[in-house]
Amino acid sequence: MVQERDDMIGLDASILMHPQTWAASGHLKEFADPLVECKSCHQRWRVDDLAGNGCPDCGGELTEPRQFNLMFKTFMGPIEDEASVVYLRPETAQGIFVNFQNVLNTTRKRLPFGIAQIGKAFRNEITTGNFIFRSREFEQMEIEFFVKPGSDKEWFDYWLEERFNWYTKLGIKKENLKLRQHMKKELAHYAKECYDIEYQFPMGWAELEGIANRADYDLTQHANFSTKSLEYFDDESKEHFIPYVIEPSAGVDRSALAFLCDAYDEEPDKEEIRVLLHLHPALAPIKVAVLPLSRREKLVEVTKQIYADLRQCWMVSYDDAQSIGRRYRRQDEIGTPFCVTIDFQSLEDNQVTIRERDTMNQIRVPIKELRTTLAAKLSGEELFVLPPGGQIWKEEK
Ligand code: ATP
Repeated sequence: MVQERDDMIGLDASILMHPQTWAASGHLKEFADPLVECKSCHQRWRVDDLAGNGCPDCGGELTEPRQFNLMFKTFMGPIEDEASVVYLRPETAQGIFVNFQNVLNTTRKRLPFGIAQIGKAFRNEITTGNFIFRSREFEQMEIEFFVKPGSDKEWFDYWLEERFNWYTKLGIKKENLKLRQHMKKELAHYAKECYDIEYQFPMGWAELEGIANRADYDLTQHANFSTKSLEYFDDESKEHFIPYVIEPSAGVDRSALAFLCDAYDEEPDKEEIRVLLHLHPALAPIKVAVLPLSRREKLVEVTKQIYADLRQCWMVSYDDAQSIGRRYRRQDEIGTPFCVTIDFQSLEDNQVTIRERDTMNQIRVPIKELRTTLAAKLSGEELFVLPPGGQIWKEEK
C-alpha cells in the first residue's frame, strides 16, 4: 500500500495534538456513543449492544441514554485545568490532515496522491471484548487519498477493490469477506459514500475496515479552524480547489484476528492432531526456524552460523529443545513457513533440509544456496528446479 507505490507517502504523526484539531474534526461534538446504566447493578452498556430493554446481566431497569464522548483526556503541562486539556488521538487520520500542507511542500507530490499512517489510537470504549476485536488502545492503518473533485467516485471504487483484494491476497477466504454499504441514515455527517469490509468472525459478521468518500470536509474544517488556506493549485487546469479525499481506515488488531481465524487449522496426525496456522509468509511472525538435529557440539556450531547468517534477512528462530518432530509442530502452530534442519550428513555434504509447513515437503539444498532459496520460497515462488545436488521428498505422517 505504501512502499511499492509512487503515489503514497508514509507518515508518523504525533499522538497528542493541538486540542483544536478535535474541534475541527468534529470529534469533540460528535464522537460519542449512547450509554445507559443499570439502576440496580450499575453496570454500564452501549445502547447499540443491547437486544432487550433490561440490563443483560441482572435484568434491572436502565437509565435514559446519555452521550458519552470516547476520547481519553489528559493535561498538557503542570496545571490540571480546562485550558490545558489535550486528547489521546482517537484515530490516526487527523494527523494526516493537519500535515497535508507539510507533505505537499516537502515531497512536491501532485494529485492524486495519498498519505498513509499506521499507529496507536485510543478510545474509551464502554465495553471491550471479543479478544482483540474491541479494545481501548489499538492500532489503526489509515490512508487519506487526495483527488481532484469530480474524480472522487472513480477513486472510491478503485480503493474499494484494492482494499478488498488486500485481504484476499494475504490469505483471507473470499467467502468470509463482504462489502456492506452504509445506508443513508448510517452515514457520518461528512461522508458522501461509505462501505465497510466485514469479516465472518466466530462471533458473527463484523467490521474490519471502513472506506469513505469524505469529500473536502476535513481539509475545509482545518482551514477554517486554523485560518490557513489548504487550497491546492492545479497546474494543468490553473484552478485552486480543496482536494477531495477517499479514506480507507482499517484496524491492525482486527485484521490480525481475522488472519488468525482464517489461518487456524487442525489436521489428524497419527493419534494426535497437528495444529497449524496457514499464515501467508508475509504475515508469519517468524519466517524461518533453524533446528540442529541434536545438541552435538559440531551440529550446534554449524546451525548457529546459519542462524547468524539468516537473521540478517528475516525474523528467525533457533530451537534445539526436544525431538525434531515436536519442534516442527511448535513452528507449525505459530505459522512459521519454513524449517531448516541441520543433520550429521550436513557436516559432510554441506547441505541442509528445508521443510515446508503446509505440505510438509522437504527439499535438500546446499548451504551456500540457502538464502536465495528461502528468499524465493518466501516470495511465493514454486521451486521446481532444485539447486544442484538437491533432493525433494515428503515427510512421513
Ligand atoms: P465500531 O463501529 O466497531 O466501533 P468504528 O466504525 O467506530 O468501529 P472507525 O472509526 O471506522 O471504527 O475506525 C476504523 C477501524 O479502526 C475500524 O474498522 C476497526 O478496524 C478499528 N477500530 C475501531 N475501534 C476499535 C477498537 N475499539 N478496537 C480495535 N479496533 C478498532
